[in-house]
Amino acid sequence: MAAVLVWRNYRFRFKNVVVSAVRLLSSTAGKFDYDLLVIGGGSGGLACSKEAAQLGKRVAVLDYVDPSPQGTKWGLGGTCVNVGCIPKKLMHQAALLGGALKDTQKYGWHIQHPVQHDWSVMAKAVQNYVKSLNWGHRVQLSDRKVNYFNMKGSFVDDHTVCGTLKSGKEILITAENVVIATGLRPKYPTHVPGALEYCISSDDIFWMTEPPGKTLLVGASYVSLECAGFLTGIELDTTVMVRSIPLRGFDQQMSYLVTDYMESYGTKFLWRCIPTRVEKLDNGQLNVSWRSVESGTEEKDTFDTVMWAVGRAPETKTLNLERVGVQMNPDTGKIVVSHDEASSVPHIYAIGDIAEGRPELTPTAIKAGKLLAHRLFSGSTELMDYDNVPTTVFTPLEYGCVGFSEEEAIRRHGSDNIEVYHAYYKPLEFTVAEREAGQCYIKMVCLREGDQRILGLHFVGPNAGEVIQGFALAVKCGATYTQLLTTVGIHPTCAEEVTKLHITKRSGLDATVTGC
Ligand code: FAD
Ligand code: NDP
Repeated sequence: MAAVLVWRNYRFRFKNVVVSAVRLLSSTAGKFDYDLLVIGGGSGGLACSKEAAQLGKRVAVLDYVDPSPQGTKWGLGGTCVNVGCIPKKLMHQAALLGGALKDTQKYGWHIQHPVQHDWSVMAKAVQNYVKSLNWGHRVQLSDRKVNYFNMKGSFVDDHTVCGTLKSGKEILITAENVVIATGLRPKYPTHVPGALEYCISSDDIFWMTEPPGKTLLVGASYVSLECAGFLTGIELDTTVMVRSIPLRGFDQQMSYLVTDYMESYGTKFLWRCIPTRVEKLDNGQLNVSWRSVESGTEEKDTFDTVMWAVGRAPETKTLNLERVGVQMNPDTGKIVVSHDEASSVPHIYAIGDIAEGRPELTPTAIKAGKLLAHRLFSGSTELMDYDNVPTTVFTPLEYGCVGFSEEEAIRRHGSDNIEVYHAYYKPLEFTVAEREAGQCYIKMVCLREGDQRILGLHFVGPNAGEVIQGFALAVKCGATYTQLLTTVGIHPTCAEEVTKLHITKRSGLDATVTGC
């Protein structure tokens, strides 16, 4: 009953928003319909629009989701909410619980083995939560008097955007400022026969109602390894195909610890291979052929599901950016922006994944959106600082980091000018459970001179995101190794091992932590 009332109330409010929007559009008062129009209702776009509305501005958001090639579609909130961070982390949690169940007997719990995982129960619960977030975003926009249009936007001129409804109906909206926050969509290797017809991407996996079965994931970056991790964790036969190296751009020593752990955990890896063809068999399975990059030999195997995780691309074509002269990088298709998120056209800005050179992460998109709103409408001059952005790869053993990789530190400062402190440690929780801890490792990269400013911190182990978040503040504030040594740990935790790092890589001494 309460839900019905909320729905009615919401429909009433939503209808009013549409009516007032139409009134506003037909009004002749003011030069533009809005002070700000945001194209794209994801992490960056929603944050920017809500902040601008809080500052008393007239704001509209256009958000439209083209279904994936397999037909999957979703609601308001963008990638993170619907097909990214949120469903991914919840499915990662499902896998971690499976791991915890295996520990339980050692801790005295009597659980009937084997235990079974039910994909459809997990998927439904995750999808319902995502739908509640879609709803929450709509309500928040409505509460802040941001006009939301479920329309696809494309530029007509530098102050006018055409919004197209699913039905094909079009309306013109004018705004003094336009922010583009349209994000990215998964790439398909269209040169591989069968790739588009028979395979899925991360846009589909979280919305599957049936388990994907034996799965091949092509690609070796965040998306592939995270999805492979949770699929393995819920005991599905999972293979990752790696073209070159895992987690390009990350510290490579850490990256291989992540994949080593995944291999010991049950994920299969096809190293240095590229897919050449996918065929559908009469029984519905997919026959995948691939070639070894080194030997050139061809191999094949059958899978129930093949998921491409070969990167993400902007869909700038439909935005009609050429028409208004917004400059794009011809190689990436992303929008070229300056330090204040401005595009090459005055009053048009780009934030989040669509902007060239920005981290493809939710917190940076959100922060950039909020700061832009304040610069546009409250006289602020504060810029987004993209240095030392922390991140975590939510693989079975998580990898969190902030700052430079060892390779990047060497490239910038030379190996003689950096000091690397490291430790192999054993999480206390792993001891009684007799879990393998060979890949639990911490590395801190510092300048060698003076107090040894910390350039990068890398942590592979449980709850890496939680561990790194706090240390990210220290790194941002310019913390030094000397200061770290004066920091008292919290015992017994994994994070305290960071405060105890004392073995340098240069010394060649055994970096295994022993004792308490
Ligand atoms: P998006 O959130 O992608 O929003 C763009 C919106 O614009 C979409 O709704 C899109 O449909 C809409 N749109 C596009 N074109 C138009 C148009 N012409 N008109 C109207 N609307 C349009 N980041 C993290 O920080 N942590 C994580 O754990 C994490 N996990 C991830 C897991 C996966 C599987 C993926 C794919 C990504 C993950 N990310 C993660 C990245 C994160 O989701 C993105 O960086 C973030 O969503 C980018 O926000 P955005 O506002 O730039 O774009
Ligand atoms: P990336 O572009 O980072 O990686 C693409 C991967 O696909 C690479 O391993 C690449 O290999 C491989 N690849 C590309 N083309 C082919 C091909 N034709 N055949 C075989 N392999 C191929 O993309 P992701 O989609 O993983 O991630 C996109 C972004 O999303 C990330 O940069 C990240 O910022 C964000 N994200 C964040 C997460 C988090 O915060 N936890 C989680 C997931 C995503 P090669 O190295 O050889 O080029």
